[in-house]
Amino acid sequence: MEDKKCLCKDGDIKVVACSGASNVGQIANQAAIELAKENVAGFFCLAGVGGQIPRMMKSAKEAGLMIAIDGCPVQCAAKTLQHAEIEPAVQIIVTELGIEKSQDLFADEKACSKVIEKVKEELAA
Ligand code: SF4
Repeated sequence: MEDKKCLCKDGDIKVVACSGASNVGQIANQAAIELAKENVAGFFCLAGVGGQIPRMMKSAKEAGLMIAIDGCPVQCAAKTLQHAEIEPAVQIIVTELGIEKSQDLFADEKACSKVIEKVKEELAA
């Protein structure tokens, strides 16, 4: 299969989100979108790492700093990176911020802000 070029935003700091099928997965996803909009980090395609797309694996490995945002303690995003021997420098788990997991897919704005603030806090530490 052809290794097509990924159009993920380049940058030294990258963020991946589990983007799971739950409120916290969608909060993780939305937080990553907002971080990209604020130019805090480039939103990177985690599926490209999971799919072992060579160019994307290389790009992920070359990131200066990788942030993984997971919805819950299953940590699919962090584990996908680790499986590819990429250790996230910053790991956020949405449920650890006091946000309860549910099966609705609503990315609550206040919860997203909490995640974004936590990422910024960790980057500043
Ligand atoms: S980390 Fe949790 S919310 Fe995210 S994809 Fe995995 S099981 Fe779903």
